[in-house]
Amino acid sequence: MSESLKAVKGMNDILPPESARWEWFEDVVRRVMSRYAYQNIRTPIVEPTALFVRGLGEVTDIVEKEMYSFEDKLNGDPLTLRPEGTAGVVRAVAEHSMLYEGGKRLYYIAAMFRHEKPQRGRYRQFHQVGVEALGFPGPDVDAEVILMVRALLAELGLSDVRLELNSLGQPAERQAHRAALIRYFEAHAEQLDEEAKRRLHTNPLRILDSKNPAMQGLVEAAPQLMDFLGEASLAHLNAVRASLDAVGQPYRINPRLVRGMDYYNLTVFEWVTDRLGAQGTVCGGGRYDGLIEQIGGKAAPAVGWGMGIERVLALLEDAGRAPAPLTPDVYAVVPDAAALPVAVATLEALRALGVRVQMHAAGKDGQGSFKSQFKKADASGARHALIFGADELAQGVVAVKPLREAGAPQELQPLNGVSAWGQKLCATRPDA
Ligand code: ATP
Ligand code: MG
Repeated sequence: MSESLKAVKGMNDILPPESARWEWFEDVVRRVMSRYAYQNIRTPIVEPTALFVRGLGEVTDIVEKEMYSFEDKLNGDPLTLRPEGTAGVVRAVAEHSMLYEGGKRLYYIAAMFRHEKPQRGRYRQFHQVGVEALGFPGPDVDAEVILMVRALLAELGLSDVRLELNSLGQPAERQAHRAALIRYFEAHAEQLDEEAKRRLHTNPLRILDSKNPAMQGLVEAAPQLMDFLGEASLAHLNAVRASLDAVGQPYRINPRLVRGMDYYNLTVFEWVTDRLGAQGTVCGGGRYDGLIEQIGGKAAPAVGWGMGIERVLALLEDAGRAPAPLTPDVYAVVPDAAALPVAVATLEALRALGVRVQMHAAGKDGQGSFKSQFKKADASGARHALIFGADELAQGVVAVKPLREAGAPQELQPLNGVSAWGQKLCATRPDA
């Protein structure tokens, strides 16, 4: 026997019944998106590497060390598995001139790839729900996208996720802050770790994002961007706050919230929880008015967020929230293969009505005993066994045996009347 193959480290199989939780989550997402009039967009998994280098910024965790990059075998083009969703959506929007007739509200549910150290809530293939609202400059849409997260969390029944908010201002304001930061960190150079030293003159703002406990004191006392914001930036932030206040959504202003990508300006936010240890950020996003132009499109404002699906599902699992298992309405017991033509035709008619049908499948020794078929019918969770016995079929009927009600009698259903029975089955389903 050859050595058995395994999935790539940090990349997970999503198996039933866990996959049911994913489907349920995705259904909730689509429902919430439709309520806000966001449309689905699907972009390729592979993009030109330059898209992410230009879009995210060269001195970011993702571009420096987390990308799965390779060369196209035929022409040597540098390609990358998408590590996040925004850059690809922005490329598509620019490439297809999608903002020609006004703004667009888009969402995706998609796999992302980052070469990180796998641990709970951090994987090499992971999945995000994301929204991008493009072509809208105002704080109204910032508040809208933030409130979509609130609606989604509420629909999922998750209450332990807090909102943190900050403003990164505009480039000139950040420039002034950056100069002050460099002066400050230079004055305390002996306290900087290697990474911080390297970033001091390339991207000092990212030092504020440091997870090194030894630097927390230094970072805490650093000059704050909030003090460098001009009137317009402050007004934008205050307008977002007013919308959040209007619906009673609590938030904390976190001046240290800088986000991992270079493309953000003005509003940035994260939804965080204490329940997932170091992987506590469930959702992050903000405004990125400069990105479209940066990757070669016609300048347009934009705002969006990305949510880690594995992290949300871990919260749901901790909270014991799971969808009701999807069990068949009917398990078809077929004692003898001679009954298969009638059975198959009947089951297809039931399925066409929406009935969930699981058919007993033959083994290598045939249909198997009546008893073993019933065992399987029971284990399937089906509400009824439908028994295609030769004697009954000869009279034009099938036997229906309730499996979940003790003592309920077996009934006979005429084969030409299954459609009425099938409709009743659907209507009386416990999760209907
Ligand atoms: P972190 O600080 O945890 O590394 P990030 O700032 O890199 O997060 P973003 O790029 O903002 O994350 O992605 C948005 C969301 O996607 C995160 O808030 C998180 O929920 C999720 N996410 C990011 N990286 C991973 C990963 N490797 N595995 C699982 N989920 C992830
Ligand atoms: Mg990260």
